[in-house]
Amino acid sequence: MRAGSPTIDLFAQDNLGLRVFVVTNQSGVARGYFTEETLAEVHRRLRDGLSRGGASVDAIYHRPHLPAITGECDCRKPRPGMIQRALREHDIDARRSCVVGDSWIDIEAGAAAGMPGLLVLTGYGRGLLEFQKNRFTTEPVHVADDLLDAARWILEHDRTPQDRRGGEER
Ligand SMILES: [Zn+2]
Repeated sequence: MRAGSPTIDLFAQDNLGLRVFVVTNQSGVARGYFTEETLAEVHRRLRDGLSRGGASVDAIYHRPHLPAITGECDCRKPRPGMIQRALREHDIDARRSCVVGDSWIDIEAGAAAGMPGLLVLTGYGRGLLEFQKNRFTTEPVHVADDLLDAARWILEHDRTPQDRRGGEER
């Protein structure tokens, strides 16, 4: 933990009651680079890995479309369609949620759905921030070293979904 920060130890608590969703553009399906079955296998391995670490995601939303092939739709980030669908289907309050991603499209999609965005420097994050900073038309509220740093920031700022188990509100 960072010195001076509120003492929230992610690993000391069994279940913080946070809802976690993965929202991912996968136009490679429409392009024929890989199949829905391959993508499902990737998601299964992702869930297995998380499970071994005692973590889980509530749902994974992926978007297999590509405008040139499957026509226009509202689900491709930076459009907010997939995020809005997750909010609707799981009865989540956007005002108590945030988006974490490694691209300006994630920050934009979150903003369009009414939530602040955290940029992680892993994945494409560092490169985009250094070389394509002009594409960030919405400022991230926090730039995190990685997902763990992002998770800590979220806990410290209480941008948590409404349905904490145990019902404790600060
Ligand atoms: Zn679509």
